[in-house]
Amino acid sequence: MAKANKDILISARDVTKTYMQGGSKLTVLDKASLDLQEGEIVALVGPSGSGKSTLLHLLGLLDTPTSGEVHVGGQLASSLSDKKRTILRRTVTGFVYQFHHLQPEFSALENIVLPQMINGVSRKNAEEKALVMLKGFGLEERASHRPSMMSGGEQQRVAIARALANDPKVLIADEPTGNLDPETSDKVFDILLERTRVSGASALIATHNMDLAKRMDRTLIVEKGRLRAL
Ligand code: ADP
Ligand code: MG
Repeated sequence: MAKANKDILISARDVTKTYMQGGSKLTVLDKASLDLQEGEIVALVGPSGSGKSTLLHLLGLLDTPTSGEVHVGGQLASSLSDKKRTILRRTVTGFVYQFHHLQPEFSALENIVLPQMINGVSRKNAEEKALVMLKGFGLEERASHRPSMMSGGEQQRVAIARALANDPKVLIADEPTGNLDPETSDKVFDILLERTRVSGASALIATHNMDLAKRMDRTLIVEKGRLRAL
C-alpha cells in the first residue's frame, strides 16, 4: 500500500536567531518555520546577508537557535546530547558549502572515503562507494587528484559526492555553485539535481540565481528575518 503521508525530514518551528553586534541585538531570523518533506528539492533565496546561511546551519545542526525548535529525522535537536546530535547530523544530513571545504592534503577519493569511515563504514566498502560516486559525477579520472589539481567545478562535484556518500536523507547546500562561472555553475547544478534525485534524498539549496531556483520543486525566500513561500 502506498504511504498516505510523506515523512517530514526537517522541520523548523518559530526559529529565531539573534546576534549581539556592538551592544545592539541583531535579529537575523524571526520565527522562521518550515517543513521539508521526503523527496522534495527546495530552493532558498534571499538577498545577501538575509540569513540563508544562518538558517541552513541551524537546520544542518551546525548551530543552535536562540529560540524555537529544529526537528531532524523526527527528533527534536535541542533534546539530544551533543553526541547524539552529532550522530544525527552525520547520518541524516549532508552539507555542501559555497567553497568546497575539501581536505587539501587528501585525494578526491579519500575526501569521499573519510566521512563514510567516520560513520563506521569499512575502508574497502567506503572506497568502493567513493568510486561509484566519482563515476556518477563524471570524475573517475580524478580519483587520485588532490583538490588543488582540480578545477572549481570539479572541486564542487567532489564536495557534492562527498555529501551524498553517506546516503543522507537531506542534502543541505549553501550556494553550492556561487563561486563558479555561469556555464560551470549550470553544469554542476545539473549533476547536483540529477544525483540528488537518483539518491532519493531531499534537498534544501540556497542560491542567488532565480533560474536555478525555478528548477527546484518550490522556493522559500528569507527577507528581513521572515521566511515565506515565493
Ligand atoms: P546570507 O547567507 O543570506 O548572505 P548570513 O546568514 O550569512 O546571510 O548572515 C545574515 C546576517 O547575520 C548578516 O547580517 C551577518 O552579518 C549576520 N551574522 C552572521 N553570522 C554572525 C555572527 N557569528 N555574529 C554576528 N552576526 C552574524
Ligand atoms: Mg550565505
